[in-house]
Amino acid sequence: MPLATRETYAAMLDAAATGGYALPAVNVTSSDTLIAVIRGLADAGADGIVQATVGGASYLGGDAAGAAAGARVLAAMAPDLAAPYPVCIALHTDHCPPEHVDDFLEPLVAESERRVAGGDEPLFASHMFDGSTLALEDNLARSRDLLERLAAIGVVLELEVGVVGGEEDGIGAADTPSDRLYTTPADLGRVAETLGTGEHGRYILAATFGNVHGHYAPGTVQLRPEILGEGQAVAAAVRPQARFDYVFHGSSGSTRAELEAAIAHGVVKVNLDTDAQYAYTRAVADHMFREYDGVLHVDGSIGRKSAYDPRAWGRRAREAMAARVAQAAEELGAAGRSIGA
Ligand SMILES: [Zn+2]
Repeated sequence: MPLATRETYAAMLDAAATGGYALPAVNVTSSDTLIAVIRGLADAGADGIVQATVGGASYLGGDAAGAAAGARVLAAMAPDLAAPYPVCIALHTDHCPPEHVDDFLEPLVAESERRVAGGDEPLFASHMFDGSTLALEDNLARSRDLLERLAAIGVVLELEVGVVGGEEDGIGAADTPSDRLYTTPADLGRVAETLGTGEHGRYILAATFGNVHGHYAPGTVQLRPEILGEGQAVAAAVRPQARFDYVFHGSSGSTRAELEAAIAHGVVKVNLDTDAQYAYTRAVADHMFREYDGVLHVDGSIGRKSAYDPRAWGRRAREAMAARVAQAAEELGAAGRSIGA
């Protein structure tokens, strides 16, 4: 399938919201991990989102050219890689802190504006601005400006209020005060008042409910997904029928029941990074341990080309990550629900 257009992306989010499931949104850092995500979604018959952080995009592009260039590389290769598969894939940029707006979001949005003016689709279907380190009103003011600009070209904004604990892409601190891990109904009311509830453009909201980035043993994180449900009442109080489209960051290590509760309260996008990284690397480690004397020159031997050819372990890594992505699609209720088929 072609990559999701703006229209398709809106339909994907709507289908998840009304169908009671969430779209897996998986971080990629290379063509190999991108292929793994596309295949995993296709194997599950699920639509989904491919995303890159600032650091992930920089790595993907070889670092020398910078993060925005890396994101353009992702957007350039994704259409051909997704084309053979019968599911809808949308592109998204993940966490962009305020200090990277100028060198990451700005050039990407400007390029999308040029493309849309010329009758093409934007580079990305959605972008996250992560102003969670700012005071709430500063975060919302900057988010509102971006929402206006993105809405004009049909691109969706993702924003975060509250703080997702843990660390991702070098951002975040383990010492976040625990009360900041929970968004309050008052905060959610300010989001609805400042950004509207869709009439000023569509946005996806990362409201925090005790979620943390990274992998934690089940039970160590106190999730309170009912906070998201309280937020839906707040949105409806601002405008009848309005509801938030939520995104769940830091899903790794969550139980199926926790995921289902979050989805029941309006989560339409669930980010998956840590568990997918682990699946990929686990398969590489397995290959290296099993094929130790093939991948290395041991005691004067010359190893085996068939073992150290990067495709030998790369294929296993891709397959393992694809399987983890398919598992996520299953857990999120997205499997077999592609609107593209
Ligand atoms: Zn995140």
